[in-house]
Amino acid sequence: MNFDAYLAPYAARPEASRGRRFPETPPTSRSEFQRDRDRIIHSTAFRRLEYKTQVFVNHEGDLFRTRLTHSIEVAQIARSIARNLHLNEDLVEAISLAHDLGHTPFGHAGQEALNACMKDYGGFEHNLQSLRVVDDLEEHYGAFNGLNLMFETREGILKHCSHPNAQQLGDIGLRFIQKKQPTLEAQLANLADEIAYNNHDVDDGLRSGLLTTAQLDEIDFYARYRGEVEAVYPGISGRRAIHETIRRMINALVVDLIQTSQARIQDAGLTSVDAVRDSPALITFSDEMRQQAAQLKRFLRENLYHHYMVNRMTSKARRVIRELFEAFMQEPRLLPPDYQMLSGEHGDDKLQAQARKVADYIAGMTDRYAMREHRRLFRIDEI
Ligand code: MG
Repeated sequence: MNFDAYLAPYAARPEASRGRRFPETPPTSRSEFQRDRDRIIHSTAFRRLEYKTQVFVNHEGDLFRTRLTHSIEVAQIARSIARNLHLNEDLVEAISLAHDLGHTPFGHAGQEALNACMKDYGGFEHNLQSLRVVDDLEEHYGAFNGLNLMFETREGILKHCSHPNAQQLGDIGLRFIQKKQPTLEAQLANLADEIAYNNHDVDDGLRSGLLTTAQLDEIDFYARYRGEVEAVYPGISGRRAIHETIRRMINALVVDLIQTSQARIQDAGLTSVDAVRDSPALITFSDEMRQQAAQLKRFLRENLYHHYMVNRMTSKARRVIRELFEAFMQEPRLLPPDYQMLSGEHGDDKLQAQARKVADYIAGMTDRYAMREHRRLFRIDEI
């Protein structure tokens, strides 16, 4: 059965794939990339995303985005663009749903804190951790660790990588050393991520009251679509006005990305995925749109991500991560048995391996699990 009849010649195809690390019998009722998507959805790490911070910590409110709803929005945007460009929808969906699996609790504050703790032990990077989750940490199958995903899915998940890390990763790290591009599907999932968070952070920022519509009216990109909404629905206000504006912003970004990328793909005269790897990045916004999006991004950084109320939460989050890490490193016997290094290595190697296990344990925690674990370790009246 041909599941990929609609694909362009430059789309990723299972038959041209670099395959799985451990060879498996091809599926009969779905494509290889559908199988990857399904494995991701059934993974433990995917369910944890429900209780991991995007910007707002889970207990701050029921209606804010979490890593799970964020990942679903990324997949929606990426799939709809992929269909327009005749790219592999199953692959972009798999990458989108998996792209944040390695995130620590408490969002970027958690990642920065854990990276600082791991400074002498090889550092911590959430992209690399996402790959570690699907390659090693998931315990689902008898024959291998991890989910044994297709090369192209793994490559898409690893969207950034430092040079030293790339050198240790073998074939999956090679493109960072050779400065080549990943598949168009990977490029697309990356930008769909950006479209999703820029827009939903405006929505969540307004919902939380940390941002005001008056502030956003100063941003050209927002003001333009807010004006359009006013022209169609004079006097509209509140949630409807915000949603009508944001849907127009998402649509403008999506349409621009489709049109710009389509033209660039055509100009490049691509005939295969290999040609994609040798070309510059082809999934891009127009220059004008990139500038507009950058203005919005800057606004969010200054006014939302560094709002004093957000800073208070991120400061607490950093402290929780740091104190958990220090407690576990000082007394590894506080860790659940699976995370203790009982035998084997000695000296520095053992310390290094123990630190990595502590990082895996902490990174896997949901926000509320990390808070509970912190109470259990530091409060005498908590068990
Ligand atoms: Mg993301």
